[in-house]
Amino acid sequence: MKPGTFGVSRSHGDLQNVDIIEDRSVRRKSGLPSRYQKGKFLGKGGFAKCYEVQDLESKEFFAAKIVSKASITKPRAHAKLRSEIAIHRELRHEKVVKFYDFFEDQEHVYIMLEVCPNQTLNEFMRRRPAKRLSEQEAIFYNYDLILALQYLHRRRIIHRDLKLGNLFLDKNMRLKVGDFGLAAQLEFSGDKRRTICGTPNYIAPEILEGKHGHSFEVDIWSLGVIVYTMVFGRPPFETSDVKTTYKKIKNNQYVFPEAVRVSMQVKDLIRRILQTDPSTRPSLDDILNSSWFCTSRVPPPMPDSVSSCSASPR
Ligand code: ADP
Repeated sequence: MKPGTFGVSRSHGDLQNVDIIEDRSVRRKSGLPSRYQKGKFLGKGGFAKCYEVQDLESKEFFAAKIVSKASITKPRAHAKLRSEIAIHRELRHEKVVKFYDFFEDQEHVYIMLEVCPNQTLNEFMRRRPAKRLSEQEAIFYNYDLILALQYLHRRRIIHRDLKLGNLFLDKNMRLKVGDFGLAAQLEFSGDKRRTICGTPNYIAPEILEGKHGHSFEVDIWSLGVIVYTMVFGRPPFETSDVKTTYKKIKNNQYVFPEAVRVSMQVKDLIRRILQTDPSTRPSLDDILNSSWFCTSRVPPPMPDSVSSCSASPR
């Protein structure tokens, strides 16, 4: 088969054609297009399985995120995938996982992404004996995260699911924000969203309250949770059940564990970010100008402890 032909009914890069509704009467054998050679399994999410694939023509490697249409029959799941594609395909930034293409056959939707062979910051932290990062490492990664958020917020996009597991690490151990499944693009800057979404430990109180809608400040809140989790090794509102976690978030109940020695500057920044009233949280620029970030050179240099961890070259 010629490269570029897929042997299955497909649409290619045209969002109108991602109908994502399985028509069993025309169901055919399907699979990855033949020009791509499937490689190792990279991971699994709520809907997707992800594999490393090589384009046999260009020899380039990609991450193929494969979503089974059978798993997204509910309108909400369907809308989530359509929105993820519509938002992610328009993004081009060094700190955002690159979106290359998407297509579908009768059974699956395939999203071709930049491959991030060093997994996410979640796995990176878990491999550490103390399960946390040094403050220099946290500054290094949060600087990149802020650059990504500045880009997204300028485009009126709220990520709404920022967490360590969505902060991918490329082949050079640099951060790339991924998974736009819950992202929202606002019509105008003062617009608000009402859908309850996010990951329990990282969700902002105004999303849980749901009364007045939410906006870009929910990403700032999650950034505060990320900074806390990086330096203390566990999320600030974590408990064994989701209800109690939500209660703690709503009541702004968290402590700085005394057993972990961290700087006054990072505690001060976390306190300023984790404020119940979204309007009192600092802006991204305020965070970059905080005394914590000022303890480092800008841009922060990659700590040796990070550079020694990158995946071995192929
Ligand atoms: P879902 O939308 O179903 O939650 P995710 O986007 O979380 O799926 O992807 C599932 C898993 O696949 C991730 O947890 C990660 O392990 C892996 N993965 C996703 N995108 C990439 C990528 N670009 N590079 C490497 N691995 C990836």
